[in-house]
Amino acid sequence: MTGDTDLETLLLGPVLPERDCGGCTACCVTLKVDTPDFAKPASTPCAKLTPAGCSIHAVRPTICRTWFCAWRRVAALPEEARPDRSGLIVSVSFNQEARNAFEAIALTVLALPGSDAIASGMAARALDSLCDQLVAVWFSDGARKMLMHPENDVAELVLSGAPPPAALADEVAAWRERYRAFLPARDYD
Ligand code: SF4
Ligand code: SF4
Repeated sequence: MTGDTDLETLLLGPVLPERDCGGCTACCVTLKVDTPDFAKPASTPCAKLTPAGCSIHAVRPTICRTWFCAWRRVAALPEEARPDRSGLIVSVSFNQEARNAFEAIALTVLALPGSDAIASGMAARALDSLCDQLVAVWFSDGARKMLMHPENDVAELVLSGAPPPAALADEVAAWRERYRAFLPARDYD
């Protein structure tokens, strides 16, 4: 979780007025926060979190006021996908030490500990609702993560710079354009 809420709004759209966090506190436990005025490690409940919610709600840090998971922003994510109900938390991830372009800016669908989202089909529903834009989507079970979007053949072509077959040319070109800032300059530029 970073403080770049403008980029999150650009990628996901504004916060939806009809969705609220209710009793969910998944982000207060699961996510790493690294901002100038507040930080916490991943997978660790915030020290301010109580069974009744945030103990400093009225004066909570800026990041807590301005950051929202994708469920709060993306209407296509099912209503039942609220993180405390679905066992999934979806967020924009920015990685300055990305191993490849698709890690640099992406959506990450993270299965929370004990989640039954794969068995219940919720993970598939959530992924279906997210994999329709030129934004990379990863699925993580906490131990491993897999690139779900774009598909592997497209991803390999985008990353390798190899000439694509005609059937994939437009799709590969669109991804290269979208992730241009994170790809090495090549002849196709
Ligand atoms: S994970 Fe999402 S729904 Fe849950 S508390 Fe955080 S922003 Fe709200
Ligand atoms: S300060 Fe409050 S809102 Fe922010 S992470 Fe901690 S418990 Fe959650």
